[in-house]
Amino acid sequence: MPHNLTEQLLKWYQKNGRDLPWRVKGGAHSNAYAVWISEIMLQQTTVATVMDYFNRWMTKFPSIESLAKADLNEVLLTWQGMGYYTRARKIHECAKVLMQKYNGQLPHTRDELLKLPGIGPYSASSICCFAYNMPETVVDGNVMRVIARLYGITKEIVANDIYPLAQELTSQQHGADYASAIMDLGATVCTPIHPKCALCPWAKSCIAKQKGIQEQIPQIKKINKKEMYGQVYLIQNNQGEYLIRQRTEKGLLHGLWEFPWTEGEKLSGKFTTVTHIFTHIKLTLQIVHEEHPKFDGIWVHPKNFKDYPFSKLMQKVIQKI
Ligand code: SF4
Repeated sequence: MPHNLTEQLLKWYQKNGRDLPWRVKGGAHSNAYAVWISEIMLQQTTVATVMDYFNRWMTKFPSIESLAKADLNEVLLTWQGMGYYTRARKIHECAKVLMQKYNGQLPHTRDELLKLPGIGPYSASSICCFAYNMPETVVDGNVMRVIARLYGITKEIVANDIYPLAQELTSQQHGADYASAIMDLGATVCTPIHPKCALCPWAKSCIAKQKGIQEQIPQIKKINKKEMYGQVYLIQNNQGEYLIRQRTEKGLLHGLWEFPWTEGEKLSGKFTTVTHIFTHIKLTLQIVHEEHPKFDGIWVHPKNFKDYPFSKLMQKVIQKI
């Protein structure tokens, strides 16, 4: 049965698959660099958002060499708005390693790819699959939903539960097309709400459809976010410039610019606030207007903020200015 399902899906994909700039129908993409960049961008970011960023990125850094030579600030500015800046820093670091040790090329094996900064098991599988057409099993949110419904799995799931079932369906000859196909099925037909089962190549075999429980699946374990508060200080001089500082400590936001802020208790009184959701944290900052700087930093006029990469949270503060 899996073999039939694989063939049915591949056939559906030839007609109905999406055209995206980082992949081709009928085999591997000829530019492994483009595959790598798109894969990292697509982690936690939607295809619609990535489309613009990807095109801009490839125009600015058309090769691994040009990326390796670029200044980190320029890299972060090009990434600005997508969040999860560690990804951009790692891509930059990785490009330098590729120039130093791999002749400016991405390696062709999973094991070698896994030695590179910022390339984990998911990215390594995706690169092998989309750039080299290997029969790698790639399990993202779309794949989890489709497989869980196909097999009618009603319990709470994690990617590891789905992997063996997804692997059984993976095409040995058409790794790239198959991975694109199942992702497209999830994104366009087997959608989280109102799946279009009438258009689905797997409709006859799908257990969730037979039982009419499509929308109750998948049950994905929810992570409770911790709530945190703090204050962000808008300090302006008489030239209309604001005090900003660059984050130097290692961590998620390293290298980005910000208005000085501190974590702490919620202050009583009326404040404009900005809220941002990180993976495990919901952070709300109260905006405090200060006259006297008690922080180190540099003075920058709002018209020049575009030259400084700010985190998404700080961009929300800028919008309030
Ligand atoms: S039949 Fe419906 S629920 Fe089942 S895989 Fe297809 S779209 Fe998803």
